[in-house]
Amino acid sequence: MDLELSASQQAAQAEYRRFMDERVAPLADEFDRRQEMPAELIAELSRCGYLGGVVPAQYAGAGLDAISWGLLCEAVGRASGSLLSLFTVHSMVAQALLKWGSAAQRQQWLPMLARGERIGAFGLTEPAGGSDAGQSTTTATADGEDWILQGEKCWISFAQVASLFLVVAQVDGKATAFLVERGTPGLHIEPIEGMSGFRSAMLGRVLMDGCRVPASQMLGRIGFGFSHVAGTALDHGRYSIAWGCVGLAQAALDASLAYAGQRKTFGALLLDHQLIQGMLADMITQVRAARLLCLRACVMKEAGDPALIMETSIAKYFASRVASDVAGHAVQIHGAQGCTDRSAVQRYMRDAKIMEIIEGSNEIQQILISRHGYRDFAAQQRAQINPTQG
Ligand SMILES: Cc1cc2nc3c(=O)[nH]c(=O)nc-3n(C[C@H](O)[C@H](O)[C@H](O)COP(=O)(O)OP(=O)(O)OC[C@H]3O[C@@H](n4cnc5c(N)ncnc54)[C@H](O)[C@@H]3O)c2cc1C
Repeated sequence: MDLELSASQQAAQAEYRRFMDERVAPLADEFDRRQEMPAELIAELSRCGYLGGVVPAQYAGAGLDAISWGLLCEAVGRASGSLLSLFTVHSMVAQALLKWGSAAQRQQWLPMLARGERIGAFGLTEPAGGSDAGQSTTTATADGEDWILQGEKCWISFAQVASLFLVVAQVDGKATAFLVERGTPGLHIEPIEGMSGFRSAMLGRVLMDGCRVPASQMLGRIGFGFSHVAGTALDHGRYSIAWGCVGLAQAALDASLAYAGQRKTFGALLLDHQLIQGMLADMITQVRAARLLCLRACVMKEAGDPALIMETSIAKYFASRVASDVAGHAVQIHGAQGCTDRSAVQRYMRDAKIMEIIEGSNEIQQILISRHGYRDFAAQQRAQINPTQG
């Protein structure tokens, strides 16, 4: 398995880092305090082709390969967890459209998503539950050429500014995906404020009260909404979040190394106290291991290996735990300095906790990974008992 970056990928990585370090990182705490992501920044990210990174060139996107998209998410996650969630949900809608959209739907929406003329949001979670999302209670009822949507989605990232919502609703008990445009009669957005992390991710509740959607905006078939359409989006979302967590953890580590190299206690630099060295060594090792798991998922993605789904779950599970641990240590190393809203490390810690909850919480990843591990083990046992059956 080749985990080396090519020269062009290294150049892209340097470009992403430079942009995010210059244009986003210095302002991320301010965005966080204001609980908003400036429209001008979103427009600039669109102009640079970053926001439409996963959209192929034939639909006006940048058509990045899996590794370049991963490196971009890492650079974004290093600068701002909230901005990473914009990249994630926007590209989840694009990915679902690419895989499940009709030719007409792809032609209609992908160029606008690629150019940032439409911002995508992903509406799966409902007040009654997120982990058990297959049990959505939002309904879609046929009415002539249209569908009438009734229900509520909550905790929807960037709902406050999104203009194209991918929502899942039940058609006679079968989960089905729909594209809903902002401004559709019966669609109402209520902002959610006061989140602990992802404070500038402009969350909202998406209320659909007799919301009339043309039949042409069903995405995939009846019954495909959760298993296929949302499944595709979530696989991609986990991949993006895993890389973003590596970036966040790297930022927390870098801040800690810088602080430990200049702060003195008991006549010595923090860097020279063995307990701090232990923490730093664990942080360095964890970040490196998380990045390697992301690279492994990436190589499998490029190869179209079906085992990718599980490898992505493993990468997301591990990287989000690493982000949380490393950001927690970063606050510890900074002491009181790490506890103010002027210090980025406390933002990293708050955002890292969210990473463990979104795109399938860590408990859900543990269930999936352990079940899969047992299936693999049982298959190997069977193959050993009866080698002819493979
Ligand atoms: C900042 C933020 C942004 C978000 N953005 C979006 C978005 O854009 N679109 C969207 O659709 N949703 C979004 N969500 C919702 C997110 O996907 C859900 O919060 C997540 O799926 C968990 O669902 P829940 O909060 O309802 O928790 P629940 O499902 O009620 O779970 C509560 C706790 O119990 C655990 N748990 C649940 N079932 C089990 C089990 N069987 N065994 C062991 N433990 C279990 C969970 O892991 C969790 O720790 C966002 C959430 C946050 C916080």
